[in-house]
Amino acid sequence: MSSFTSAAAPGAAQPHAAIRVFELHGPGSVRVGHRLVPPDGALMRVETTGVCGTDHHIWAGRIDVPVPLLLGHEVIGRLERLPDDHGLVADAPLSEGDRVLIAPGVPCGACAGCDGGGRCLDRPCYGLTMTGDGLTGGFSPYMTLLPGTRVFGVPEELPAERGVFAEPMACVLSALRKAFGAQYVPPGHDGLVLGFGVIGLCSATAIAAAGGTATVVEYDPARRELAASLGFEALASVEEAATAGARDGGFPLVVDAAGTPAAFASALDLLAWSGTLVELGNFADLGEVAIKPSDICLRDLRIVGSGETFYEDFPPAIALVGGTAVDLGRAITDVHRFDALGDPSDLFTVRAAGKAMVSFA
Ligand SMILES: [Zn+2]
Ligand SMILES: [Zn+2]
Repeated sequence: MSSFTSAAAPGAAQPHAAIRVFELHGPGSVRVGHRLVPPDGALMRVETTGVCGTDHHIWAGRIDVPVPLLLGHEVIGRLERLPDDHGLVADAPLSEGDRVLIAPGVPCGACAGCDGGGRCLDRPCYGLTMTGDGLTGGFSPYMTLLPGTRVFGVPEELPAERGVFAEPMACVLSALRKAFGAQYVPPGHDGLVLGFGVIGLCSATAIAAAGGTATVVEYDPARRELAASLGFEALASVEEAATAGARDGGFPLVVDAAGTPAAFASALDLLAWSGTLVELGNFADLGEVAIKPSDICLRDLRIVGSGETFYEDFPPAIALVGGTAVDLGRAITDVHRFDALGDPSDLFTVRAAGKAMVSFA
C-alpha cells in the first residue's frame, strides 16, 4: 500500500505532498515517479495535457533532453495557488481558479536577447528542457509556474478536446506569421499540407480559416480518412498532389509537416513560382536530403523555418481552435485518464490516428 497521496485526493496540493508523475529516464524509458508539491510559488492544477509529436521524438531518443525529465508541455489547467508575488505574465489580472494555458517557454532573464528587451535566445521549456525535481511538466496533476511564465486565459466554454490544440496551433501561427505577417495566411490563399499529424491539421485549419482551400497529403489511410472527414481534400501521395497542383502551376503555399527529410524536397517541387514553403516537419534531426538550389533561385521560392513560438500567437490560437468550423474534437482519437494509466509507456508505444491527450478531470 502506497503512502503517496493520490492525484485526486483532497489536499493533494498541500505543500510537501508527494504526487504521482510520469518521468522520462532515457530513450524508451518513461516511468511513474513521485515529486513533492513545493511549499510556495504559483501552482496550477492540470486539467488536460496533450501528447505531442515532440514528446514522441524525445521518447524515441531523436531529441536530446536532460533526464530525469517530467514530460508534457501542452497544458491547460487552473490556477490553484496564486501568491501576491507570483511573477506570472498575463494580459489581464489573474485570480485563483482561472482556467489557463501556459506557454512552454519561459524567458531565462540572463541572455543577450532578454537583456535587450527582445526575444529570449535560450528559453527553458516546461516538459522539454527544464531540469531539477520540480513539477515542471504536464504529465503531473499539478505544475509549478515559475516567475516569468506566460499564461493565457482559456474560455470556460472551450472544450478541452479543442483547447488541447491551442499550443500546437500557436506553433503553426508563429510559422505563418514568419511567412506572411500578422494575417498568418493571405485571404483566400490555397495551401498544400504534407502530413496530417497535429501540425498538419492545425496548418490546414489555419489555411481554411483564411478562406483558402487546404489540400492534405497523408500516406496513412486512417489519418487520410480523418482529414477527409474533417472537410479537407485528402490525397494519398505527392504524385497525386503534383497532378492536382499542375492545373495552377503548383501550390502557392506548401506546409511540410510530414516529418521526413524527403518531404522537404517534395514540398519544393510542389510549389508554384514564387511560392512559400513553411518547414514544420523536421523538428528533430531526421537526416539529409538532396535538393537543387537552382530550383529555389530560378523559381523565386521562399523557405521559412520555425523553431520558436511567439507569445503573441497564443491568444489568436486559442480563439481559432474555439471558433473554427473544423470539428477539431473529432481528431482526438485517444483520451488517457492519468489515474488509470498504469504504464505511461502506453502514451508512446501506440501511434494515435489523431491526437492523444491525458485527462486529469
Ligand atoms: Zn508540442
Ligand atoms: Zn533569455
